[in-house]
Amino acid sequence: IWDEVLKEASYKLNEQEINTWLKPLSIAELRGDIVTISVPNRFYKTWVEDKYLTLIKNIFNITLSIEADIELVIKNQTKKKNNNIQASSPTYHININNHNSNINKQYTFDTFVVGGSNQFSHAACMAVGEGFFHTYNPLFIYGGVGLGKTHLMHAVGNKLIQSYPKLKILYISSENFTNEMIYSLKTKSMDDFRGKYRSIDVLLFDDVQFLAGKERSTEEFFYTFNSLYDSQKQIIITCDKTPNEIPTMEDRLKSRFAWGLIADIQAPSNEEKTAILMKRAELMNLELSEEVALFIAENLKSDNIRELIGALIRLSAFASFHNEELSIELAKRSLDKFLIKKDRALNPEVIIDTVTSFFNIKPTELKSKKRTKSISYPRQICMYILREKLNISLQEVGEYFGGRDHATVLHSIKNIENKIKTDNELKELVNVIYKKLYS
Ligand code: ADP
Ligand code: MG
Repeated sequence: IWDEVLKEASYKLNEQEINTWLKPLSIAELRGDIVTISVPNRFYKTWVEDKYLTLIKNIFNITLSIEADIELVIKNQTKKKNNNIQASSPTYHININNHNSNINKQYTFDTFVVGGSNQFSHAACMAVGEGFFHTYNPLFIYGGVGLGKTHLMHAVGNKLIQSYPKLKILYISSENFTNEMIYSLKTKSMDDFRGKYRSIDVLLFDDVQFLAGKERSTEEFFYTFNSLYDSQKQIIITCDKTPNEIPTMEDRLKSRFAWGLIADIQAPSNEEKTAILMKRAELMNLELSEEVALFIAENLKSDNIRELIGALIRLSAFASFHNEELSIELAKRSLDKFLIKKDRALNPEVIIDTVTSFFNIKPTELKSKKRTKSISYPRQICMYILREKLNISLQEVGEYFGGRDHATVLHSIKNIENKIKTDNELKELVNVIYKKLYS
């Protein structure tokens, strides 16, 4: 787990800070709502408390979804000695000595699971990664939070570094671009800033949506874009929406985004989520069965892959702490509040209750032989819904209505089926009932 914390921290801190201050720490105990971290000495304790505690806490709470307080203890004063809680995930390292330093080495094509939801973007990125530069330029990738956009960009970077070590590749988020620009304005070093951005071969520009509304940085990005594009350099841009959906983004920039290829990433299916979990478990040396992976994939509330992986890390933390295997039962316990609460089970009684209370009639009336329209119409609708939602046999449906035979039931259901095709009011009405069924 500590490795995961270090990895997350590496997005916020530089390598030296991590090596000096965070690497020497370890998790001593993980219990309920307290994470105890052991630090080498007093000096560390004060320093870490002052400077990094908030960050560490945020990583635990937000990224790893472990809602806990952090307690620092000095190593030899730890009550229990370091147990084997640390997951053996690969260590994270960045190379700060060359211009490709801000490419995250862990985000490669090898660790990226391809499926229907992302294959288009993946294929386009692969092509750029293999050095086909002018085909998809700019390459604009859009998709929701945590669906792998940043991962793909770094994967392109990593692949290019391997085959073309001389290439100058720069990964930057629009936020950091803005920060750098503001700094350069303050220190009157805009020439350096422009020089830097216009001398690169491949620009990986992440989360362009954050430029929206920021006139000065949008303008600066516009010039950077033009200059690179004119000299036939490759540009990849990511965004959480399509160019046209970005509010207050200049039209001239939007239209440029459409010059190349626009590719999307959709939310993953349960099968893809399962595959991603299996892959991640393999990278973390965890023994995860497909059954448990599928359980998490199907039951986690969110489609965000970062949260999906967070759930796995949380589960593995629980497993090593309690010295248990990764099981569905443990997943239920450890992930409880992140899991979808299954809908109140739909059954015939619930449906009949909902329909009768909607039409303000009594269930007994529905079951009676009454044929007035105010009763027979709701009755038909109810039969239709039973059949639609529960897919039970005609005969069984009939049994809920005072033993009507299956021909009568079929006739009623067909009647509603036909009407619903043309009658918008009826359609709307049935939809309202559906909503009530699930509320
Ligand atoms: P985004 O930039 O779209 O918000 P990220 O690229 O940061 O999302 O992905 C979030 C997390 O999910 C990362 O840890 C990333 O490695 C992982 N991830 C996303 N998509 C995949 C995938 N297809 N296969 C494996 N891991 C993935
Ligand atoms: Mg991202």
